[in-house]
Parts: sequence; C-alpha cells; structure tokens
Amino acid sequence: MCYVFNARLVALYTNVIKKHNSINSTTYRRDVFDIRKIAEQSITECENIKDSGGLEKFYKDKKSLNVATQPNPSQLRPVRIDSSLVDSFIKIGQDHFRNDIEFCATICGTLKNGIFDCTHMLIPRQEGTENSCCALNELDMFDYQYKNNLITIGWIHSHPTQTAFLSSVDLRTHFGYQSSLNEAVAIVCAPKHVPKLGVFRIKDDALDKIRRLMVTNPNFGIRHEHTNEVLFEKCSHVQFTTNQNINVVDLR
Ligand SMILES: [Zn+2]
Repeated sequence: MCYVFNARLVALYTNVIKKHNSINSTTYRRDVFDIRKIAEQSITECENIKDSGGLEKFYKDKKSLNVATQPNPSQLRPVRIDSSLVDSFIKIGQDHFRNDIEFCATICGTLKNGIFDCTHMLIPRQEGTENSCCALNELDMFDYQYKNNLITIGWIHSHPTQTAFLSSVDLRTHFGYQSSLNEAVAIVCAPKHVPKLGVFRIKDDALDKIRRLMVTNPNFGIRHEHTNEVLFEKCSHVQFTTNQNINVVDLR
C-alpha cells in the first residue's frame, strides 16, 4: 500500500494536534486550513514525484517527517480496536479478497485520558494488485477526518497471497504513520495463511534505519518483499475489544 502524501499530511496534522490544547480553537482551525492548502499542493507534487521517481528526495526534503519522540515502547499509550473492525474490513473487501487484489483502509479515532480509541475505518477509492494497493482520494479522507475531529491511528491492508508481515513497501508507508504518532498500528490480513492477522509497528531502533534506507536506496520500498533484517514487531500496546462501535465510512 502506498500513502505517499498521506504520510506527510498525517505528520502535519498530528503536529497541529500536539500544538493545540483544543481542536475547536480558532488557531487550530487556521493551522488545519494551512494543511489543507499544503495538501492541494502535494497532489501536484506527488504527481511530479511519480514522474521523476524521486521519492527519496521527497522524504529527504520534508522536515515534517522527523521521527517521533517516544523511544521506549513501554511508554506507548494503549490503542483500543474493536475486533469488528477487522470483520467489517474483510466483509467490505470481499471482492478484492476473492480476486487476490490487495485492499486497504485507514483507521482513525480519538485520544481521551491517554487512550486511543479506534472509532472509524475510512475506505478510500483505491487501485490494487496482488501485492500493492494505492489510495486515490486521500484529500477526501483528510477532509472527513478534519470535519469529524479524528486522529489517524493506523491503517489496515490485506495480503491476498502472502503471509502477514510488513514488506519493505509497507515499512515505507508505516514510517509516515509512526513518525507522526508513535502508537500508530499497521494491521495486515492474510486470509490464506496462519496466522491470518498481524498487528505491527516499526521497532523503535529501526525508524532511523528506514529513514536512511529511504534516502540512500531508491529501490527500498518499491517491491512488496521481505527486508533482510526484521525491522518491525508485533504491537504490545493494542487491546482488542468486543463492545465498541466502528463507523465504516466508504469514500469510494
Ligand atoms: Zn503489505
């Protein structure tokens, strides 16, 4: 799955949330409006990046992708996800699953009393293959999140034929999420394998390695393949619940 510019938006948006105490303040809304303008500019920018193949330059240039600041996993705040989120994902994406096409969605929610609650799953318009999935209308997702005061907490995607793991392209995508929010989660559904589900994050000491790889190796994260070194880990801060509602928003 590739979320080239969403990674940047997530970083900007999360920084704004960190900066303001209230997401209803005038200054917060002004900052978000500024992000919206950047987002529109980014669409053109990303088109250019695709054309020039200059992804590594994109990451190198963007200060907004600084690595998050919580080095100790034990300090991670809990993320609560209702198990129905995964069920809904599989149900909505059944055509994709049937045809061995990757399917993806963004998970968002709220932060209250130090706990992230995943309340929404946003399904973007998307293009996929057996081992890739690309969101097409990320600006719509951003708008929806802004209007509903939702924080991006992670993403979920399927591996129609492969096992549940984070490939190099997944690591590249998740780098954007985790750079913005250290608790960000990447859920992988692999229906043809056991286990069928993985809930992952990048190891804290691997964030810098991945950033370096993105800058120095133009081929890193292009293919959906295992990295030589395992750079991700299972999430220990995620709690699956069975009594929370998940709002599924289909933006296709
Ligand atoms: Zn993947």
